[in-house]
Amino acid sequence: TMDYGPAPEAAGDALAWIVDQGSRFGAFINGEFTTPGDTFETINPATGEVLAQVTQASPADVDAAVAAARKAQDGWERLGGKGRARHLYALARLVQKHARLFAVLESLDSGKPIREARDIDVPLVARHFYYHAGMAQLMEAELPGRAAMGVCGQVVPWNFPLLMLAWKIAPALAMGNTVVLKPAEWTSLTALLFADICRQAGLPKGVVNIVTGDGVVGAALVAHDGVDKVAFTGSTEVGRKIREATAGQGKGLTLELGGKSPFVVFEDADLDSAVEGLVDAIWFNGGQVCCAGSRLLVQEGVAERFHEKLKLRMQSLRVGNPLDKCIDVGAIVHPEQLARIKGLVAGSGGVVTQGTAPEGCYYPPTLIEGLEPADPLMQEEIFGPVLVSTTFRTPSEAVALANNTRYGLAASVWSENVNVALDVAPKLVAGVVWVNGTNMFDAAAGFGGVRESGFGREGGWEGLQAYTKPAAKRKALKVAAPVVGEPELPE
Ligand code: NAD
Repeated sequence: TMDYGPAPEAAGDALAWIVDQGSRFGAFINGEFTTPGDTFETINPATGEVLAQVTQASPADVDAAVAAARKAQDGWERLGGKGRARHLYALARLVQKHARLFAVLESLDSGKPIREARDIDVPLVARHFYYHAGMAQLMEAELPGRAAMGVCGQVVPWNFPLLMLAWKIAPALAMGNTVVLKPAEWTSLTALLFADICRQAGLPKGVVNIVTGDGVVGAALVAHDGVDKVAFTGSTEVGRKIREATAGQGKGLTLELGGKSPFVVFEDADLDSAVEGLVDAIWFNGGQVCCAGSRLLVQEGVAERFHEKLKLRMQSLRVGNPLDKCIDVGAIVHPEQLARIKGLVAGSGGVVTQGTAPEGCYYPPTLIEGLEPADPLMQEEIFGPVLVSTTFRTPSEAVALANNTRYGLAASVWSENVNVALDVAPKLVAGVVWVNGTNMFDAAAGFGGVRESGFGREGGWEGLQAYTKPAAKRKALKVAAPVVGEPELPE
């Protein structure tokens, strides 16, 4: 085994926060934490240690959370865009103030490298709240005739626990909705810290409610009669169940699901940059990324050279203690997920090359070559640090291979010839296509998939539209009518 020494001191504040909260967490309903009921353990996957006990919310908790959100909604919407913006700015500032605490807690609970949590996740969370504070201020002017959907039931996965919470909560609140959010059962802690921040920020009670627990709680939330809009991020399988469960209920629905995104390298690409791009595409967050570039397609003429460079780079990736700032790949989120990855790779018929990883809940950077396009590993989302690769001869073959998937979340094209890149990019069936880059996100840009990667967009104008509906007719007509001077709005 490799000795990574004692955990860096950085964990101190986050562990102290957990202890301060009694190491047992209730749900956050109507501005208060409930007394913990039936609880389950949340662990630090890097060490196996139990971090805290988290409540498995009961059906009565879900009812109470939805009722609190309903009660708060009218007042929150009537506060107006500018009034809500003040609260969103306060949340953004408090996320920044506690950035280190959030980053360490996220790293402890999910196993992601502290470098990523600190430099990527948490700054993007703050940016998301700032951006949507600005959009709240603009709502009346830029989205006339639109009103809030009402109460939103939101369910998020474990790979970017706090960032996915921000993607859900910030636009919903900006547009005058109230929310009940369920974090993933392996990673509830930063959502609970966020609840604490809502309390500190003086957010009106009931505007944000957090119910913790497993898929049973998620299922109760999305099917709840009192929920007007469902927003889900997670696996395609669960997304399908949610679509079935909400069919015919008249609820708004957005789904952000899985992917098997192609990373296409043409022979005129800057190969060194493409290798670095690929490191980011498949080893960022240990490959536990919905839009991970998990399928490498490389043009035959450079395939051998590219694979050599890639294998060399894989050997230098450091896998280990997520709290170590020099680590490239942290722990896998949970032993169950590790077992799933191991099982999938063990069943592959390809040629497997691996880097190194310490014992425990870790998995080495892995490359699998020589698979047929129809091989399950070329088609299935692995959600770990595992890259599959194949070669192509012509641009049209690259397009055909890239699109040979049931998913369509993201794609990445590498070429120094802008004509090749611009010819290929629009032919790829994906919600986003990056040219000579990967994993570029911004609060102002809509993100989402096509085909089995989901429908609807989060972020940007499209994301905001998904949290609004046409306002009651009379009001809409009055606002839209051409007027001289200030229109008189009905009460
Ligand atoms: P998952 O679908 O197993 O779980 C996601 C969430 O749904 C969890 O909170 C879980 O408790 C809850 N859940 C489970 N069953 C439910 C049910 N029947 N009804 C309601 N909620 C239920 O996914 P995961 O393993 O946590 O996350 C990984 C998946 O998320 C991957 O497929 C990944 O691609 C996807 N993902 C997509 C995006 C995107 O934006 N498209 C972003 C991140 C992750």
